[in-house]
Amino acid sequence: MLSVAAAQEIVLQHAGPLPAVPTPLDASAVGLVLAEDVAADLDLPPFDKALMDGYAVRAGDLASGVGTLTVIEEVVAGKVPSKRVERGEATRVMTGAPMPQGADAVVMIERTKMLDERRVQIEEVKPAASGQNVLARGREMRRGEVVLSAGAVLRPQEFGLLAGVGRTAVKAHPTPSVAILSTGDELVDASETPGPGQIRNGNGVMLLAQIVRAGGRPQLLPIGRDRPDHLRALMTEGLRSDVLVLSGGVSAGKLDLVPGVLAELGIQAHFHKVAMKPGKPVLFGTRPRGGDGPPTLVFGLPGNPVSSLVCFELFVRPALNRLRGLAEPGPILVPATLDEDFPYRTDRPTYHPAVLRLTETGYRIRPVPWFGSQDLRGLGRANAFVVFPEGDHAHRAGQVFPALRVE
Ligand code: AMP
Ligand code: MG
Repeated sequence: MLSVAAAQEIVLQHAGPLPAVPTPLDASAVGLVLAEDVAADLDLPPFDKALMDGYAVRAGDLASGVGTLTVIEEVVAGKVPSKRVERGEATRVMTGAPMPQGADAVVMIERTKMLDERRVQIEEVKPAASGQNVLARGREMRRGEVVLSAGAVLRPQEFGLLAGVGRTAVKAHPTPSVAILSTGDELVDASETPGPGQIRNGNGVMLLAQIVRAGGRPQLLPIGRDRPDHLRALMTEGLRSDVLVLSGGVSAGKLDLVPGVLAELGIQAHFHKVAMKPGKPVLFGTRPRGGDGPPTLVFGLPGNPVSSLVCFELFVRPALNRLRGLAEPGPILVPATLDEDFPYRTDRPTYHPAVLRLTETGYRIRPVPWFGSQDLRGLGRANAFVVFPEGDHAHRAGQVFPALRVE
């Protein structure tokens, strides 16, 4: 059976970045990935800039650090100096103000004393140096210089930088649209009281929340019934999105119709079953679509809630990261030291809910009580899964295992 790593590799082979689109830099662009190099449109700062409130001076006048200068002008931020500072003169400047001609240093206000309207006494502790407290023109960036490269994630700091070079829109990879189709004749909506043999659809909204966390835009389809015609109609609708995520109906039961209907709709399955627990029956397929973008991706997740959750984290989230244009799609597993002895017997590599914490000596992990793939409640005490290998093992405190954080 396919390993998790091999299955992830297959998913990533089919999941390239979505074609870039012009994107206004508004709230919906936070977290998107830039798809162009952005250059500065001007020098920054555009002038030699005072970095302190104080006096713009000629350093040569203050070779000893002290002296009395004639104040010729006051310049606040946003205003331009009109007078040249000659020998023995100073201009009062505020932080951010352009430096007057002739001056090459700023003495901070705390090291000065006004003697009268026109004279200031400088009391520097050491000789004034040319360039002190001045940011030279173009020091931050030069016009035409690339300040942000394709692949950058648009975090708050990138928003600030882009605005600084005059950009209100950029080319970025769009948010992937993800349709969610929960299938099963036994499912009823959360708002309903289940009748005999029925259960509420927990996976639909759980997937919705995971998709939001993973930077996708979810769309919940109505519950799909275990009938080919009904599934076909809803899948057809879901296939208009970049990604279709199904829950349920992918195992080997009589009413597990999902793989067959997907094949009818032209979806090529690349794997169906992975050596893992929970989540073994997981299916991944694609259908080509026009244009230079990736194919439509289809994930059939097993219906048991923890299987669905784990399979999303291992396969769907990395795929979404790729569609979003991220170079490192994850998932990132961290090495974690087992807190206590933990004998474990399993026939497949197993993702067991656990509490992961970072200590001075690295990550530590403690498995929580859990009774299997139906037990979503057991996850309430966990923030990660610890991965135990197959076989019958007497795992010891101090041994190191991979851990997958899930928050
Ligand atoms: P299946 O993968 O369809 O064989 O379903 C496996 C188990 O998961 C069954 O016990 C289902 O009742 C349960 N299940 C399927 N879909 C959901 C869902 N949307 N929410 C909660 N449980 C589900
Ligand atoms: Mg089912």
